[in-house]
Amino acid sequence: MVAESKTKYIFVTGGVSSALGKGIASASLGLLLKKRGLKVNIMKLDPYLNVDPGTMNPFQHGEVFVLDDGSETDLDLGHYERFIDENLTIDNNVTSGSIYNTVISRERKGDYLGATVQVIPHITNEIKDRIRKLGNINGHVDVVIVEVGGTVGDIEGLPFLEAIRQMGLEEGPENTVYIHLTLVPYLESAGEIKTKPTQHSVKALREIGIQPNILLCRTVKELKPEVKEKIGLFCNVSPTAVIQDIDTATIYEVPLLLHDEGMDDLVTQHLKLFCRPPDLKDYRVMVSKIKNPKHKVRIGMCGKYVKLKDAYKSIIEAFTHAGVENDTEVELVWVSSENIKQHGPEIYLKGLDGLLIPGGFGERGIEGKIEAIEYVKENKIPFFGICLGMQCAVIAVARQVPGMEDANSFEFDRETDHPVIHMMADQENVTEMGGTMRLGSYACNLARDSLSYKAYKKDKINERHRHRYEFYNKYRDVLAKQGLKIAGLSPDKRLVEIIELKDHPWFVGVQFHPELKSRPSFAHPLFREFVGAALKYNKSRFEPGSDIPIYANADEDKNS
Ligand code: GLN
Repeated sequence: MVAESKTKYIFVTGGVSSALGKGIASASLGLLLKKRGLKVNIMKLDPYLNVDPGTMNPFQHGEVFVLDDGSETDLDLGHYERFIDENLTIDNNVTSGSIYNTVISRERKGDYLGATVQVIPHITNEIKDRIRKLGNINGHVDVVIVEVGGTVGDIEGLPFLEAIRQMGLEEGPENTVYIHLTLVPYLESAGEIKTKPTQHSVKALREIGIQPNILLCRTVKELKPEVKEKIGLFCNVSPTAVIQDIDTATIYEVPLLLHDEGMDDLVTQHLKLFCRPPDLKDYRVMVSKIKNPKHKVRIGMCGKYVKLKDAYKSIIEAFTHAGVENDTEVELVWVSSENIKQHGPEIYLKGLDGLLIPGGFGERGIEGKIEAIEYVKENKIPFFGICLGMQCAVIAVARQVPGMEDANSFEFDRETDHPVIHMMADQENVTEMGGTMRLGSYACNLARDSLSYKAYKKDKINERHRHRYEFYNKYRDVLAKQGLKIAGLSPDKRLVEIIELKDHPWFVGVQFHPELKSRPSFAHPLFREFVGAALKYNKSRFEPGSDIPIYANADEDKNS
């Protein structure tokens, strides 16, 4: 166990380029330290001025990751929760916007007693307070990992870098470690690995007073000892502290590769944390299952942002976890709802083993999604609808009721006679966009005779929400006559949380976002069962004696 009780801080910065996997590297280190028996907390400092990413377009920012407490956070928080296997809170994601918001409202209240309010010290003090707060959440925390978003050299990241520089002085060198993630590119034309971008990026960091202790070098090629020595010499770091962060087949392999490179040893030695080596036995089994699956299924994913996989990050990860538990590789086939609307569902969906419709906002592509649902409903192909996907399923079923052909969601058609999905009463007077939806974890009771109960194996569950609209209760009876079963209800029975279809092998729509709670160590029960149902459906189409599934002309979305 840890010899002294002072919280230690690990600061992770990035250089040269964005998208090098700083979030995964930070989360991987968190996993390794937790598996050494340390109590770990982790946070992301985001330099943008939005108070939270909830108002940002997924095209620019990727998925909004919602936590139990209802905070809308950066998608890296998803990696943190999945790797470290802890539920995080609003304190784990700090943006410049939220820092300035606090400081400016304090200034308005007169809390600064006549002082000139400045970036240094008022903004930097607020940043340091937020970081230190994490050192004592639910008791003492051994290590806080602080990932600084953006790239060194960005103007907007400067207050964060200044704050972490000051913390090094205030906490002392044994209690702080600076890790800098950089890119070491391989130039095809020169046939060489290039270290210059790393040298420049470390130089930029040192100009603002931070000397990294460890360099994490993202690379496609193995870094030979001479390269590590060169980087060490030019960047004033020991060559043993130059760690290779090589491309991997799956992100879940990163902790293992960093461990093999001695990353967690280096960090714990530097911070004088006396702890056992990490126990990675089960973790290794999980990674080898991801890499060597026995079976394969192909699942259609029909959403608005088919070109932007980051918008559906948690769903993609949840499929990886569900694949592990079914010993199955899940190939996601991105299907554009607009193509379905134009050419009909059959050419896109025939031959797939399941269809998932994810969450979303706005009218674009809705009609194609509804057609896709009608197709899988008729053809008994497993279906999983999440949030908007569930709402579209309700619309699809409702439109089959004679006289209800115009059924729609109030979100898309304010004039419809049959708004089977309607605005929640408490949303009607909401005018602001930020943080005003139904957000965070809510309880739900399951019907015993449902597919959902079979998956969760319990009566009461808690799931995370992010939406404004709901199933309109007025239509419960008429839709029940169509075979629509209400499988999950809020404890007061007022809100429909899960619908299923009778006479279908696996058709489940949920108003919440199950993907946010899936973990590699424990796949989400509904994703696990959905992949299981897809595998069963796939096997039912096998030719006897052959182990090659028959895919009938599945035409993938060419735009994805
Ligand atoms: N747009 C829908 C709503 O607000 C669904 C939201 C979602 O899928 N997250 O209710």
